[in-house]
Amino acid sequence: MVLSSSIASGSNTTEKRENTMESQKQVRKAAFIGSLLCAIAALASTNAVAAPKDGTYSEKVMGLIAPFTVSVTLHDGKIEKVEVPDALESPGVGAEAIGILSERIVKNQSAAVDGVSGATMTSFAMLQGARKALKAAGADESFFKKATEQSALPDEMKSNVVIVGGGGAGLAAAVSALQNGATVTIVEKLGYLGGSTNVCGGALNASGTKYQAKLGIEDNPQKHFEQTMKGGHNTNNPELVHYLADHATEALGWLESMGLVVNPKVGAATGALYQRSHYPDPAGGHTYIATLEKALQKYGDRVRICLETKALNLIEENGRVVGVEAQNHGKKVKVFADKGVIIATGGFGANIEFRQKVNTGIWKEAKLDKEIGCSNISAAAQGDGLIMAEKVNADLIGLADIQVHPNGTPGTGLMLDIKTSGRNRLFINKAGDRFVDEGAPRDVLSKAVFAQPGQTYWLLQNHLRYPDENKIDLLSGRKMKDMLAQGRVQKAETLEEAAKMMGVDYARLKAAVEEYNQVASHKVETDRFGFKANHTDDRPMTEGPWYFARKVPTIHHTMGGIKINTNAEVIDKAGHVIPGLYAAGEVTGGIHGENRLGGNAVADCMVFGRTAGRSAAKAD
Ligand SMILES: Cc1cc2nc3c(=O)[nH]c(=O)nc-3n(C[C@H](O)[C@H](O)[C@H](O)COP(=O)(O)OP(=O)(O)OC[C@H]3O[C@@H](n4cnc5c(N)ncnc54)[C@H](O)[C@@H]3O)c2cc1C
Repeated sequence: MVLSSSIASGSNTTEKRENTMESQKQVRKAAFIGSLLCAIAALASTNAVAAPKDGTYSEKVMGLIAPFTVSVTLHDGKIEKVEVPDALESPGVGAEAIGILSERIVKNQSAAVDGVSGATMTSFAMLQGARKALKAAGADESFFKKATEQSALPDEMKSNVVIVGGGGAGLAAAVSALQNGATVTIVEKLGYLGGSTNVCGGALNASGTKYQAKLGIEDNPQKHFEQTMKGGHNTNNPELVHYLADHATEALGWLESMGLVVNPKVGAATGALYQRSHYPDPAGGHTYIATLEKALQKYGDRVRICLETKALNLIEENGRVVGVEAQNHGKKVKVFADKGVIIATGGFGANIEFRQKVNTGIWKEAKLDKEIGCSNISAAAQGDGLIMAEKVNADLIGLADIQVHPNGTPGTGLMLDIKTSGRNRLFINKAGDRFVDEGAPRDVLSKAVFAQPGQTYWLLQNHLRYPDENKIDLLSGRKMKDMLAQGRVQKAETLEEAAKMMGVDYARLKAAVEEYNQVASHKVETDRFGFKANHTDDRPMTEGPWYFARKVPTIHHTMGGIKINTNAEVIDKAGHVIPGLYAAGEVTGGIHGENRLGGNAVADCMVFGRTAGRSAAKAD
């Protein structure tokens, strides 16, 4: 795998960072050792200044998810290593940024290096910690000199297939194109692979699987199709939905053939409408990314990954898309594809201006302005691919179909801590009442939350979901112990104590839980909200400890986008295929209609990403 990213210019060194290696980390390590030697040599040749005091200096900083410690070790007056022993930042995103920045700081012997794009808050915290630690060591201003990354990419590159966006759909497309004999270039604007797929819950809807059969869950692609259409208010493209439902189980098996481990406990993501959400082990979307990255390694220099490289425009020749113009650390480059370009740039949920412009659909009464957060990686979910595609006359459909999810964290909209997915979780308003069927589709759930006082609610769970605080939970991929330590989730031994802590009326809360328990224990079939105990995990919630956190609606997914067919070919405004252009994942439209079922997006990325890679590789 060839990984091309950048070179450092903080010292006098310029070094090409391009290696054929096994993984991103290994690539970074080798580049890092070489440049470290150059940086140290360069520093040694400058006039000596008062050296900082040797030792390890540690500073606590506030990360995106939780506080962490930045430890800087100095030896012989040089930064020897930077470590973070206790980070709980997201795997593949904040955790990846910490690794990248540790290396950049040592390589440049400076705490004034560029942050990692796509991990702004973690980068800020990390660099702040390193600066404080160096100051405590008595480091002079040379350790705070700006070191800017520079491009190592050639002016022009070529491969059979170019993939714009290295998230879930893009990496699935890459592996598939490679398996079908193509050479591949991935153009990714962030400093790491995986995009928003890295932070997703990892639910992948597939029907009729061996995992469902073991739990006695009856399912088939027709049922998956019908529920997806119903969830989307029948505005989806039935042909694409059939293709999704018919190929999701095969896509899961494809991932397993690359080493993905599937957790046998099949769940139901928020608004999944059925128990067909399959989770990877370890939990979370990053596991798919790690699996696909590992699969890419097999292909050596047949695949090139250009990180921190933002695609700007598609290149057209005689009515065919033949490449991409992109920018890497200020340098414009061209990447040509003789078989096809695949757009896999994700959604536009974090582009406030764009989402407000197109918000004429189910949320037209809501403002969707900056007051409402977004669950995605903000730098990724800007809709770049839509804008590029439209310039070559691609048809953009269903843009008003924006998904609002009820599991946002107040303040950011990120989906942290306890989840609305799975079962045995109650939505409780400020008065202490339930107000919605917790198993309803996401548009129903979010609309119900918007109607509550303060447009917020308490998500209430108990020991059924977290039987052991020290064990990693299947859905959140986190331990309750860590979530409690961060303070956003609270705990009470009794329901009465929980009511007090939540500031709600105990009698009403008790009545709400009892009403739910009537259904959960199958004493009645349904309650006044329409909740049904139709999941193998449903149990009455009677005992503490109780766990609860405040939640708000958040922008989550954009269902509209580039029109494609079942070959993942892009369709233009006149209904014709645009030669050389393919698209997959959240950037496309038509699959989910007005409301996506939880767990169908990862399935979409894997099914259509795989198809796009194969179609492009096999193109004439
Ligand atoms: C918190 C959260 C939880 C979720 N949980 C689930 C779940 O459990 N199940 C489910 O089915 N769905 C879930 N989803 C939705 C699902 O994860 C996404 O829809 C899906 O992962 C999108 O994948 P993608 O490959 O299309 O986009 P991404 O994974 O976002 O990848 C797009 C990539 O393109 C890059 N890019 C963008 N523009 C450019 C450009 N101009 N040049 C180069 N690169 C560019 C981005 O940086 C990014 O890396 C969740 C989403 C979030 C945010």
